Amino acid sequence: MRAAVFHEPGTPLAIENVDDPAPAEGQVVIAVKRCGICGTDLHATQEHDGLLLPGTVMGHEFAGEIVEVGANCPSDWKPGRKVTGMPSLSCGRCLPCRTGKPMQCESNIIVGLQQSGGFAEYMALDTHNSLLLPDSVDWVEGALIEPLAVGLHAVNMSADIRGKRVLILGAGPVGLAVSFWCRFMGAYHITVTEPEAIRRESALQFGADIGLASGAPEALLPEVEKAAGGMPDVIFECVGVPGMISEAIAYSRHGGEIIVVGFCARPDTFVPAAAMMKELSVRFVVAYDKADFDMIAGLLAMDKLDVTHMCTGTVGFKDFSQAFEGLRTPNAHCKIMLDPGIT
Ligand SMILES: [Zn+2]
Ligand SMILES: [Zn+2]
Repeated sequence: MRAAVFHEPGTPLAIENVDDPAPAEGQVVIAVKRCGICGTDLHATQEHDGLLLPGTVMGHEFAGEIVEVGANCPSDWKPGRKVTGMPSLSCGRCLPCRTGKPMQCESNIIVGLQQSGGFAEYMALDTHNSLLLPDSVDWVEGALIEPLAVGLHAVNMSADIRGKRVLILGAGPVGLAVSFWCRFMGAYHITVTEPEAIRRESALQFGADIGLASGAPEALLPEVEKAAGGMPDVIFECVGVPGMISEAIAYSRHGGEIIVVGFCARPDTFVPAAAMMKELSVRFVVAYDKADFDMIAGLLAMDKLDVTHMCTGTVGFKDFSQAFEGLRTPNAHCKIMLDPGIT
């Protein structure tokens, strides 16, 4: 089969012929219909962090059709069914696994980083971390469930978003998904701060009331307050670089809430007293639960979510590497997807 293969950081993905996957016990093989490019893919291929192994096929935002069923799969997992899933091969028995959080399983293998994923014609999936989709959910919607789930999970981890003034730091795909769900769940006012003008524009299509150019909190807070009619009640940190938690603390009102969503693997510092003096609740969140996927699939099936505008480009293998590299420079794209069926 054809696949986009990672070889080394700084080198574009190579379109190559690789072996077809075979389903292990409890697995199915799907023909990939769409697979989105994620910021994580861009980071992982730029600087080597040890997670992404040479020879791996990336891609963890996929939807496809079952073509082969392994031993001991549930009886309704049949060829022809639509599927998406969490990009996770996990033990299936530990507490995180049994409560729908396989990304926190100690033996978790991340599909698309540590094991081959969806930038290919076919991929193997664990049935226990995947879900069958109703036929009314189309391929683009199916492949958007994963990035949408990141935002839904973060918003669900807030104590209560209803009627709140929300500030979202960063309008990358994660910040945009958070904005989308804050609106859906009944936030009162949503401000997004983001350095790129083009992304501030997109935020407005994702439920935000206003997009402001990022700046130092001391300078920007009066603007944020004026826009929302008060200081933010809930702040979502969706940038993921050192210094952002400190900024979120500075923006927060007394008794406010901070949800840290931006993934940062480097040491960071903040002054605890600054958060203590406001008695802030700070919550760190990661990825999603199976329930987030199920809820989004259900809402899509009921036509309750208008999300197809999130997919801003579709390419076949021929143009894939170029499209992938193009996302490294400022651009208006929210999500570019691979369609392996495009020749
Ligand atoms: Zn992702
Ligand atoms: Zn487990």
